[in-house]
Amino acid sequence: MAPASPYAGCRVCLTTLHGKERVLARPFFHGLGAELLVAGCDTDQLGSFSGEIERLADPLTTCRRKAALGLAATGLPLGLASEGSFGPHPAVPFLPVGQEVLVFIDLERELTVVEQRLELRTTFASRTVRPAELSSAAFTAWLHQVRFPSHALIARPAQPSPRAARLCIKAIRSRADLEGALGHCAAASDDGAVLVETDMRAHCNPTRMASIRRLGFQLVRRLRELCPACGSPGWGRTGTLAGLPCRCCGTATSLTAQERWGCAACGRTELKPRRDGRREADPMHCPWCNP
Ligand SMILES: [Zn+2]
Ligand SMILES: [Zn+2]
Repeated sequence: MAPASPYAGCRVCLTTLHGKERVLARPFFHGLGAELLVAGCDTDQLGSFSGEIERLADPLTTCRRKAALGLAATGLPLGLASEGSFGPHPAVPFLPVGQEVLVFIDLERELTVVEQRLELRTTFASRTVRPAELSSAAFTAWLHQVRFPSHALIARPAQPSPRAARLCIKAIRSRADLEGALGHCAAASDDGAVLVETDMRAHCNPTRMASIRRLGFQLVRRLRELCPACGSPGWGRTGTLAGLPCRCCGTATSLTAQERWGCAACGRTELKPRRDGRREADPMHCPWCNP
């Protein structure tokens, strides 16, 4: 039988205005026996997706601050927050990716556990259009690609006139609303064009919500693992080591050879074999056999 959860019966404060408890409550309850309590703090003061307030810190720092806001508001010792950032893939610039971060804070154990994932399944995209193009084949194809209307959009003037500098219409979920937003933003744009973007806030983007759910399960699995040295929750993978040897010639490839596991409380680390048990790389990844 699995050891008892270190957080059974505890309440964990989740800082969100965007309904993330819908996907995080289950893993925390079923995996840890913990109950989520939503702290609806105004996290927009930390910056927002639609860019009205410029983000001041990197996503991980923003996420830690968000969790701390909830702890301060509720007085609970356990806090949770999520943060996403979106942009081009670091190695493949035409491929959009999402970076999702979950931070769990345990004030009594002085523990911060971070789980992250690079998400290739994202609808993140933007496009400049004019109202007359609403029914064009190209824009229709783009709307299909970003999964509108199940996934919401944001519109703003492409060249905002001085009085419309802050005009930004969010959570557009219907064709009628999109038509209205295009007309409104075009009228406030010096060149009559509108910048349409995917609304990446979790409650507006089911694809992102699903990726936060996967990350929630990942974090809960980690919190159930206790450090072999000090017994703190959160023993898990903190990084990987490249160098898996080529099957033909033994040269080190860029593939993962070992995983580094670590404890956030005492600093203990261990190297472990790959989870899938692979000990050799296919020669197609080898810089010598397949340069
Ligand atoms: Zn080789
Ligand atoms: Zn430890």
